Amino acid sequence: MTTAGGGTLALSRIVGQDHAVQLLEGAHASGRMPHAYLFQGPDGVGKETTALELACALNCEKGGLDACGECRACAMARGMSHPDIHLVFPTPTTIKPDEYAAVIESQVKGGFRDADFGRKVPIISVDTVHTEVVAKANQRPYVGPWKVFVIADADAMTTEAANALLKTLEEPPDETVIVLTTSRPSALPTTIVSRCQRVPFVRLSDADVARILAGDPRLGFSAKQADAAASVARGSAGRAVRTDSKTVEAELERVASIMLGKRTRDVAGLLEEANNLAFRLGREEQQHVLDLMLLWYRDVLLVSSLGAGAGSCDLLYSRHSDAVASQARTMSVDLIESLITKIDGARRAIERYSNPTIVFTSVLLDMAIARRKAADRSAVRAA
Ligand SMILES: [Zn+2]
Repeated sequence: MTTAGGGTLALSRIVGQDHAVQLLEGAHASGRMPHAYLFQGPDGVGKETTALELACALNCEKGGLDACGECRACAMARGMSHPDIHLVFPTPTTIKPDEYAAVIESQVKGGFRDADFGRKVPIISVDTVHTEVVAKANQRPYVGPWKVFVIADADAMTTEAANALLKTLEEPPDETVIVLTTSRPSALPTTIVSRCQRVPFVRLSDADVARILAGDPRLGFSAKQADAAASVARGSAGRAVRTDSKTVEAELERVASIMLGKRTRDVAGLLEEANNLAFRLGREEQQHVLDLMLLWYRDVLLVSSLGAGAGSCDLLYSRHSDAVASQARTMSVDLIESLITKIDGARRAIERYSNPTIVFTSVLLDMAIARRKAADRSAVRAA
C-alpha cells in the first residue's frame, strides 16, 4: 500500500482509486467532514495510505487538499510523530506497548508491508481501543485542527473493542475523524458500519501496481521487476510488495512443474502432490498457487489466440514457452476455459475453508485428464 512518488505523497497522487479520492475531496471541499469513514476494499490497494494522506491533508498548515509536505504539521505527520494522528492496527495479544511503537515505525518505513506475526492471530483489543482511540478522541487536539484515528483492518476488533468504539461513534467528539479500513466489511458489526460513510476501494490494474512498485524507492523494484511482480499480484500492490523478484521466479518454476504434470503421472504421485499443497502451505499461499495456475492457462489462451504472433516475452511463463505452445496446440479453447473455471472454483472453495486435500486432488485430477485428452488428440492427428 503506497503511492507513486515515494516520500511526496498527496491525495491527488493516490494511484488507481479515483472514485474514493473524489469522495474525500468532495467532503474536504465542502468543509463537512463525516466523523467516521469506512474504507472498504481488497488488501493492498491503498486504503491505509489514503487514510494517512487524508489525516495529513486535514492537518496541513497550508490547508490545501494535497498536504504540502513541508510545513511543521506535514513533517510530523510524515514521521508518524504528529500528536493528533493515530494509527491502530491488529497485533498479537502478546505484544508489549513498546514493541507496538517499533512495529508501527517499521510499517511506515517499509511502505506498509504487512507486519509478520508468524502464526499468532493479530487482533485489536478493547484495551487498545480505549487507550489509543476513546481516551484520545475525548481530549482536545494538541496541534490541530483535526484529530484523526486510522483503525486498519478494523474487522480484527474483538466484540468488546467494537462496543467500546461504538460509543465514540454514537457521540463523536468535535474535530475528530475516525477512519476504519477493512477488506471484509461483512465481518464488522452493522451498528458500526451504519455510523460510517463508506468509501469503496477497488482492485488495481497491473499497470497501476507496477507504477506503484517502481515509483517508491523504498521498495527497491526496477521497472522490469515491478512488471513481473504486478502480473501475479491480482491487483494488490500490498501483495506484490510482499514478494520479491527471486521469489516470483521460484514460485513460477514450482507451479510450472505442476502444470506440466511432472510429478502427477500416476495416482500415487497425484495424491502426494495434492497433500503437499494441502498440508505444507497456508491458506493464502494455496490461493496464490491457484492464481499462478490460472495465469498459466492465461498464457496458453494467449498463445492459442495469437498463434505464432505471441512472442514468448509476452508470457508470464516465458521460460516454458515451448510447453505452453504445445498445450495451446493440443487443447481446445473450451477445454482450457473449463479448466480455468475449475481452478477459479477451487480458489473460492479455499477461501470458504473447504478441505484443501479434496480441492487440490480434484484440480490436479482435472488437469491430468485434460492433458491426457490433449495427448490422445494429438496422437490421433499424427496417425
Ligand atoms: Zn503541510
